Amino acid sequence: MDLKFYNTLSRKKEVFQPIKKRDVGLYTCGPTVYNFAHIGNLRSYIFGDILKRTLHYNKFRVKHIMNITDVGHLTSDADTGEDKMLKGAKREKKTVYEIAEFYTKAFKEDLKSLNILPPDKWIKATDHIKDMIKLIQKLEKKGFTYNKGGNVYFDTSKFKTYGELAKLNLKSTTKSRVEKDINKKSPHDFVLWFTKSKFTEQEMKWPSSFGKGYPGWHIECSAMSIKYLGKQFDIHTGGIDHIQVHHTNEIAQSEAATGKKFVNYWLHNEFLILDKEKMAKSGSTILLKTLIDKNYDPLAYRYLCLTSHYKKPLTFSFESLDAASTALNNLKEKIKDLQQPSKPIKKESKLSKCIERFDFAVNDDLNTPEALAVVWDLLKDDSISNKEKHKTILNFDNILGLNLKEIKKEKINKKVKELIEEREQARKEKDFNKADVIRERLEKLGVILEDTKEGVKWRKKS
Ligand code: AMP
Ligand code: ZN
Repeated sequence: MDLKFYNTLSRKKEVFQPIKKRDVGLYTCGPTVYNFAHIGNLRSYIFGDILKRTLHYNKFRVKHIMNITDVGHLTSDADTGEDKMLKGAKREKKTVYEIAEFYTKAFKEDLKSLNILPPDKWIKATDHIKDMIKLIQKLEKKGFTYNKGGNVYFDTSKFKTYGELAKLNLKSTTKSRVEKDINKKSPHDFVLWFTKSKFTEQEMKWPSSFGKGYPGWHIECSAMSIKYLGKQFDIHTGGIDHIQVHHTNEIAQSEAATGKKFVNYWLHNEFLILDKEKMAKSGSTILLKTLIDKNYDPLAYRYLCLTSHYKKPLTFSFESLDAASTALNNLKEKIKDLQQPSKPIKKESKLSKCIERFDFAVNDDLNTPEALAVVWDLLKDDSISNKEKHKTILNFDNILGLNLKEIKKEKINKKVKELIEEREQARKEKDFNKADVIRERLEKLGVILEDTKEGVKWRKKS
């Protein structure tokens, strides 16, 4: 079955073909660690996780790299404003290194709570300054840079295909006055190296042939992805806000330096929105911690994200989170039930059809809402035994990541087991009075019985 992804580069769904046969290089733009990630950011990493798990499911070996931006990301993506890390450090009266460490740890904990598989390698921008300097020097040698006002700029007019990813109309685009940098020859040009550092920490300024300073945000991702995945690799992910500037600039720098096509498939998730507003890291934000403090299971948020296709905006509300929470709890109850034996009622099993539908859904540009619908249809299907359902859903969960394998069969003690058997015998002998008395006794012991077409089922009172 073909695996298809919507590629932002071509604006089309394409069959996925990696550069090497079964090995996939995957790069995800990680967080700028100056604050907690909000649940919008986390939607982006859940999408990346579903992508990676789908690649695994299709037996690809994935090398996944995610960066931690701990320097160089300014409050405006167009090189103006303060460095976000510096802003965070001032806010908390700590050093940049201290806040980077604190928020990196918090971010990793969030990923763990959401059952997001960690990347093969975590890489920090400040550990790769030499690689960035080398890349800028290469661009300088090839004539793609100019120096102005102490900064080194990338000259976008020298890169003929600049803006293709975002389909930028270079002639008509005028950036806002606030974002205008008087040193730039074109508003699209961007900083590769800053020397007018505002950092108070001496360690946040690095010596280079362009002067003592620090790198621009975009060069970080180019230098680090090339270092770990090569000059050309398969997939790059991020939110749609990165298309216009960050990823457009990553392509320009990387391709100008290497002369090769940088990335074959660009995948971007749509935004999680709060009351029609883009969530900012300041102002009205919701963190995973906010949900946990309100007693939500983080996986209910993951479930909510799965109910919407990653290419569609998702409006967050506590009502929709409640619905996702209920659905997840119901699913867990069903998983418990599946661990009790049953015989299929209908003869012709629809199992292979269900598996085919699920595989088609996930391979069709990660259609998770349809994949979830298949799970619920499978649960209802009485042509499939509980054992087969259980095994199949746990296999599906390798993609969904709802931790369903942790849902263990509830244990009952010997006495309860004997009572259930005794009641079954009474029912067989049509002694319904005795059967009812035993049912009531079991209820007092905290065990609820349910007579179904497939036989008696029990569960513990919640
Ligand atoms: P940042 O730390 O701001 O670079 O954001 C981390 C990731 O979250 C990036 O891939 C962004 O594109 C993505 N992102 C930011 N806001 C949202 C949102 N509201 N919904 C979904 N993704 C987002
Ligand atoms: Zn990036």
